Amino acid sequence: MVTPPAHDSAPFCPLTSPPEVVRALPPVTSRGATARSRPRPAPLRDPGQEPPWILVPGNAAVPASYRGHPYVYPGGVGPEGEPCRQLLSLFVITNLGALALYLLFGTLSYYFIFDHELKKHPQFLENQVSREISYAVRSLPWISVPTVALFFAEVRGYSKLYDNIEDSPYGWSGVFLSMLSFLFFTDMGIYWIHRGLHHRLFYKRFHKPHHVWKIATPFASHAFHPVDGFMQSLPYHVYPFLFPLHKVTYLGLYIFVNVWTISIHDGDYRVPRLLRHVINGSAHHTDHHLYFDYNYGQYFTLWDKIGGSYKSPTSFEGKGPHDYLRKLREKDPGASNGIGASKKDPGASNGTVASKTEQRAPVPDDVTSVG
Ligand SMILES: [Zn+2]
Ligand SMILES: [Zn+2]
Repeated sequence: MVTPPAHDSAPFCPLTSPPEVVRALPPVTSRGATARSRPRPAPLRDPGQEPPWILVPGNAAVPASYRGHPYVYPGGVGPEGEPCRQLLSLFVITNLGALALYLLFGTLSYYFIFDHELKKHPQFLENQVSREISYAVRSLPWISVPTVALFFAEVRGYSKLYDNIEDSPYGWSGVFLSMLSFLFFTDMGIYWIHRGLHHRLFYKRFHKPHHVWKIATPFASHAFHPVDGFMQSLPYHVYPFLFPLHKVTYLGLYIFVNVWTISIHDGDYRVPRLLRHVINGSAHHTDHHLYFDYNYGQYFTLWDKIGGSYKSPTSFEGKGPHDYLRKLREKDPGASNGIGASKKDPGASNGTVASKTEQRAPVPDDVTSVG
């Protein structure tokens, strides 16, 4: 009689309920018994039920004692659908996905959209790009911990995510409407959470690190304190628990959200004229980094207008960072390459930031203040 390996009867994952069927497999001799003459193992469960084992095609890489049996535990963290295996998979996928989105789109935006002239701005910090990347890469794994907990609840079926268009309450139009409502819902949620993070009880501890970057680059987009990063992503994760959402739509929106977050830090202030005061673009968010108490929104200016925190971007009025640089150059043409050479921020080296006034750069008399 061959005794099954210990992991068959002792699940690796403490979240797994004890297996319903654990018993020794019928003996399988390696010599003398052919596949035809070998007795077929008896079904270990009701055939109508999902077997708790993984089918291994061709029985490749199966321990000798299990050859001939169609189902085996893969070992390690247990079979597909097992909680610890799902958590581990989600943790790996979430981290790799977020990192790939951040580095890929951040790099593309940095080299093809971001105006490198902005690095000469007096409020652009020394080694800022590497500091932004370093801060983001260190934060993302921590942000992923509570995020994975929510993804886990979704995978376990506690959300209203659905697989097929037929499951949509209103077919394709329901999918389209869910995209719009997702954007408006998350825009509202982020507005209030972001505004709350500016409250003196939370600002210094959680949100200040993101305001280190006065003249942000695309790499500042994910450079948040983990609590800040998770809190601002919370509306995205709450939505599918409240409203039906197609799984692929959710994935597409997740990618869109990451790209949008990068885009509002890319220093490209162009927005179609008609939408200038409707869409919360890079010009709006740049003023948020510079002036703090304005333009908390993510996609739209709607909640800033309702909440009384809307500010028409200075760059739309000829007073933005580019105008500031232009005026500095006009005032001292010889200093054009050295603008911003003395911008070390001693308070920011460990991810904290100096106060608003400490961050202000010296401003020529005839140039509108940027801070
Ligand atoms: Zn802020
Ligand atoms: Zn920002």
